Amino acid sequence: MTKKRRISDLVRKNILSLEPYASARDEFSGEAVVWMDANENPYPGEMQLVMRDPETGRDLAVFNERALNRYPDPYQKILKERIAKEKGVSARQVFLGNGSDEILDLLFRTFCEPGRDEVVLMPPTYGMYAVLANIHSTDIREVPLDETLQPDTKTVLKQVGENTRMIFLCSPNNPTGNVMDRKRVVELLENFQGLVIVDEAYIDFAPEKSILPLIRDYDKLVVLQTFSKARGLAGIRLGMAFASPEVFHWMNRVKLPYNVNRLTLAMASMRFEDKAQKEIVEKILEEREKLAGFLVNYYKVKKVYPSDANFLLVCFDDPEEIYRFLVETGIVVRIRPGIPGCGKAVRITVGTQEENELLMKVLENYAREKNKK
Ligand code: PMP
Repeated sequence: MTKKRRISDLVRKNILSLEPYASARDEFSGEAVVWMDANENPYPGEMQLVMRDPETGRDLAVFNERALNRYPDPYQKILKERIAKEKGVSARQVFLGNGSDEILDLLFRTFCEPGRDEVVLMPPTYGMYAVLANIHSTDIREVPLDETLQPDTKTVLKQVGENTRMIFLCSPNNPTGNVMDRKRVVELLENFQGLVIVDEAYIDFAPEKSILPLIRDYDKLVVLQTFSKARGLAGIRLGMAFASPEVFHWMNRVKLPYNVNRLTLAMASMRFEDKAQKEIVEKILEEREKLAGFLVNYYKVKKVYPSDANFLLVCFDDPEEIYRFLVETGIVVRIRPGIPGCGKAVRITVGTQEENELLMKVLENYAREKNKK
């Protein structure tokens, strides 16, 4: 692998030669007087809708339906420009998807030849990378994070071969909560000829800055972010990717025509005006520290991993028992396997002040009960 690879060298053969579907809105862009191209219903709805959450029965939003009879912009031009401005990149370096999960899926669909190509994963990390690799018949080369929970770059670079298409890094990492060392990420970018995906779903909780500006220097760096975490809009499903326009040129051929819906575009645009969001992130960080302080001193806890995200990974003496106990009291957390120096650990998302206080009270009650016996 001495010759420098172009992005097109990494694209699946059938995608290179694909004649992509052209939606009505692909073929015409501009100011129309009358839209008669997309077989839409020409009558805008006029209902006042109370959107009710089918799960909780609570009212989510009240709005007057106006223009939902029309398809959304397939390339989300206006929102991309807004995001590009915030991030200091060009709109051509932005890609949007139905959650970052959709973007992850598209990376596999665009760049991995099923049954031939492979990717490098560094466990413990976000479980979807492996699931998607399996769905797309892509081999996984696992190179566990080292004992400092950082990428073992030497082994990774030894593992990569002719058919290694992508290396996945998650920073801050889910579930360990730590940011990946920038020097090591750059080492991978410098020495690997495929795509380096850096998933920054939790970056807005971290003191470190995003690696995003490096997309100017490295055409094979893909940075993922999301509206689901700090931006508080997991319900609308909107993920963002940042990379060279050429990466997105190929992904645009593969994506479904209207992958981000009109309501999502509108909600996301409004979030840019919402100044309260920053304060909420600060509050979550404060709450995380309070919760970490409590857990560090809890008698069953062996270790609380330092976190740059909105969750804490906690190594308990008997994680299964704590997990069962919490779930029985209605507090749902997650068990994560394969944590270096711990085995199974419990991942706790930082809740509201009231929710965290409840968790602490429940754990105190548990300790009292156990110590009585
Ligand atoms: N990446 C990481 C690291 C995550 O933890 C998650 C969600 N759990 C996602 C991506 C998916 O996010 P989205 O809601 O944008 O699909």
